[in-house]
Amino acid sequence: SSNNQFANAPDTDYAQAELRQKGQQALEQVRNSLGKTYLPLIDGEYVETAEYINSVNPSRSSEIVGKIGLISVEQAEQAMQAAKTAFPTWQKTPATERAAILRKAAQIMEEKRHELNAWICLEVGKILPQADAEVSEAIDFCRYYADEMERLDSGYNYDIAGETNRYFYQPRGIAVVISPWNFPFAIATGMTVAALVTGNCTLLKPAETSSVIAAKIIEILVQAGIPKGVIQFVPGKGSQVGAYMVEHPDTHVIAFTGSREVGCRIYAEAAKLKPEQKHLKRVIAEMGGKNAIIVDESADLDQAVAGVVSSAFGYTGQKCSACSRVIVLEPIYNTFIERLVEATKSLNVGVADAPSTQVGPVIDANARDRILEYIAKGKEECQLALSMSAPDGGYFIPPTIFSDVSPDATIAQEEIFGPVLAVIKASNFDEALTIANSTDYALTGGLYSRTPDHIDRAYQEFEVGNLYINRTITGAIVARQPFGGFKLSGVGSKAGGPDYLLQFLEPRVVTENI
Ligand code: NAP
Repeated sequence: SSNNQFANAPDTDYAQAELRQKGQQALEQVRNSLGKTYLPLIDGEYVETAEYINSVNPSRSSEIVGKIGLISVEQAEQAMQAAKTAFPTWQKTPATERAAILRKAAQIMEEKRHELNAWICLEVGKILPQADAEVSEAIDFCRYYADEMERLDSGYNYDIAGETNRYFYQPRGIAVVISPWNFPFAIATGMTVAALVTGNCTLLKPAETSSVIAAKIIEILVQAGIPKGVIQFVPGKGSQVGAYMVEHPDTHVIAFTGSREVGCRIYAEAAKLKPEQKHLKRVIAEMGGKNAIIVDESADLDQAVAGVVSSAFGYTGQKCSACSRVIVLEPIYNTFIERLVEATKSLNVGVADAPSTQVGPVIDANARDRILEYIAKGKEECQLALSMSAPDGGYFIPPTIFSDVSPDATIAQEEIFGPVLAVIKASNFDEALTIANSTDYALTGGLYSRTPDHIDRAYQEFEVGNLYINRTITGAIVARQPFGGFKLSGVGSKAGGPDYLLQFLEPRVVTENI
């Protein structure tokens, strides 16, 4: 069955001069409020910490966006206890009331959209139109999960003569949300509001490099009416306080999005039963990808080139859904590469807050160095087809294309998470599908083709969570393209889809003989 009821929040139309101007004004305002300190929120109070870190603008690494207080393990424990104390009341709060808070949060986000876009642009180096799409997605998550909770709240009724059978859901307890920096607003909001609306007390641990945006999410949720103790903001070191909360015997649900390495560790740690723990933890772990687009000989090449460029280099390749392999059928291979290189060359690389920029920086020095190592490896293994120059002053890596890449080369197998694209030649469609499926991951994939038989086969045989035919493979929309992968891309049901909230709930059945 289909559900076309949900109305997605529209993105800002930057073709309108007035809205472009609003975007620039918001950037200016936010630039004037850089460098402030953001504190953790524990049991409804903003608390001082022993340690602070700076979050910097990746476009200009000397610019400090904000200073964040990092909690200690003792403070993580206080947050846990406060969450436990708040749970009995939150658990009994009617689902409609919890849903109303999410709708209010969505409204605040809509009102602050330009300001939020500017924070995203400056803290993680995302160009305004892409930051704007992220804010739309966060708004959608709030409204969609509010609707979904109300739907689930009616439960199921299996009554027969002389006996009532009521199937209903209750919250699990304490949810720990661990978010990545690459969708600092949408993903952190989505996981957090899902945990909250289902009645769980929730601790948000954002990625260090995007803690200021996470602090903004918390401000909005508090303003929308989430009660004291129900949401806790626990910025801290992932390997230290993140791990502590994962291992904590009072944690019931862990909603994680991030790398495969950390996701696998969390899955294993969460499975260990601790003394005094009387339940097994539920882990949702959305991890990486090595996403491929197949371009066959019947494809519309203009469309395919534009789609690959946008999927590979949008947000500098730092999307879990990004295209990092393009598998091209032999008859069009040379033409495709030529046109791909030409189209990529025309991209403007620069600071994320300049209106002409199409490709901004990567997140930090570690990421830059890791990507540069992959590029060096690529130069050993394959043919460099395009390398461009990059500006100074930030963590810039320009779009880089390798051709004649062997399907099992390192750069064709490992997630690079940067603007590096491997072009692989296939002699026929069978081989193209085999190559596409030959990684550990199964997140997104794409096919450009006008051959019905190829499209049918991709439907059945292309092993990915989200397959896109004749379009870009990034930019999934809530309730339209529920998002998530399988194999080593993750465990859990799709974000923005009808099964998502079930992961935060415990179903019960009560039978009454009457
Ligand atoms: P990451 O390094 O795995 O970090 C993710 C989060 O985990 C951060 O908050 C991090 O905190 C925390 N963390 C680190 N070590 C931990 C530990 N031992 N225990 C508990 N928490 C720990 O990932 P990232 O660099 O932020 O994000 C990029 C990755 O996310 C890519 O692999 C990308 O594909 C994936 N991703 C997947 C999806 C999806 O939907 N499938 C969406 C977006 C991104 P610190 O920052 O303090 O280290």
